[in-house]
This record gives sequence, C-alpha cells and structure tokens, in this order.
Amino acid sequence: MIIDYHVFEENLRKVRGRIEQSAMVAGRSSNAVQLLPVTKNHPLDAVRFAYRSGLKSVGENRVQEALSKMDDADEEIFWELIGPLQSNKVKKAAERFYRIQSVDRIKIVNLLQRHAAEAERNLRILLQINTGNDPNKSGARLEDASALLERALSQPNLKVDGLMTIAPLSSDLNIARKSFASLRKCREELAESFKVDLPELSMGMSGDMQEAILEGSTIVRVGTALFGKRDYA
Ligand SMILES: *Cc1c(COP(=O)(O)O)cnc(C)c1O
Repeated sequence: MIIDYHVFEENLRKVRGRIEQSAMVAGRSSNAVQLLPVTKNHPLDAVRFAYRSGLKSVGENRVQEALSKMDDADEEIFWELIGPLQSNKVKKAAERFYRIQSVDRIKIVNLLQRHAAEAERNLRILLQINTGNDPNKSGARLEDASALLERALSQPNLKVDGLMTIAPLSSDLNIARKSFASLRKCREELAESFKVDLPELSMGMSGDMQEAILEGSTIVRVGTALFGKRDYA
C-alpha cells in the first residue's frame, strides 16, 4: 500500500466534502450519492481501509484481480465489477460479484443469466452506455440501449438497477458533463418506455464527480482521490 490509513482518512474527508458541496449546489441530498471506492491496482489493504471506514462496497476493474482479493478477504465486502467483462470470465463473475456495472451487450446478458441461474443467485447489474461515443471506451451505443435493456429485463436472475457510463477522457469538464446529462436523459427515456424504475446512475470519478453529481449521479466511483495514484508497472 502506498498510503497509510491516516492519509486515506484525510482523502476520504476531502472526497466527502466534494460530494456534499456538489450535492448542495444541485439541491440534492448527499445521502443520495453513494461513494464507491475503486480499489483496482491497489492491494487488499485498500479494500480493508475502505471497509474500516464504513464503506462496504468496492469497485474492481478486472475479474481475475478481484477474485484473488475475494479469496484473501475475511471481511464481508460487496464486490462490484466496473471493468470490461469477457465471455470467458462471465461464469466466475456471475458467481462472485454482488453487482456488475459493465454489462454492455446482449451476449453478456444471456451468459450472466445462464450462470447466475446455475449458481442459484440473483445478480444485480447496470447497463454500461457509451454516452460520449468515445471509441476508446466500452459500453453499448445509445441507440442500442433499448434492445439491451429489453433483453436484460426479461432475465429472471438479473435485476437491472440502472445505468453506468465513463466520460470521454478530456481536460474539458463540459464534455464529461454532457455525457452525464446524456446518461440521465437515456435513463428517463428508458424508464418511461419500459415502465420500470432505473434508480442508479453510476457516473463520475476522481476528476469529474462534481459534474456527475450535478447531473444526477447516484454512485460515484472514486479511486485516485482516495488511494493515490495507481502503479501500473
Ligand atoms: C479506475 C476506474 C474508476 C476510478 O477512477 P479514478 O480516476 O482513479 O477515480 C472509475 N470507474 C472505472 C470504470 C474505472 O475503471
């Protein structure tokens, strides 16, 4: 671990302050915004820090890395997958994660249903939408969101909690904000046409959580601002 617990606590205090401030500006309750600590590329200690501070859910980017942390953790953690999911990892993912935020194609919906049913589990999912039309980002295209949701809603072992997006990489925060607004609009249209509640909007990270909260984010996924820079070596 590159930081110690006291540094983490201080970072957490600052992140909570940013969330409260943006919620206030948006006229929203900060309780309506869940802070999901992102522990990818950090050792299990990062998960333990989060847990110790009262954050029981963590976001992980890669199935393999998450599974090995799950094996080592004694704490009861709600593991959420926020990174791309390949077909050959779906079985493990369906067995072990509490929620999968990165469901972006029908093939993965079908496989998740099959493996969740085999494991006799109900699995929560979010549909990841590429609202920024960023060719470097995964996520379903906006025009495919409706077909994806239709398929997901008809799966007995899957529960669609809402939508997720990653803003395009840009130093212009207006671009991020537009992509968040677009996810919110997408949610409104889908909820209306399918007559379902899609309560969760997972959007916003260390660099753009304020913009996301202003656009209605209910889950911000925060790594760097809590745990420091990741080591990609
Ligand atoms: C890494 C990651 C995050 C956290 O990013 P930070 O900039 O470190 O806060 C959030 N969401 C996804 C999907 C990620 O892969």
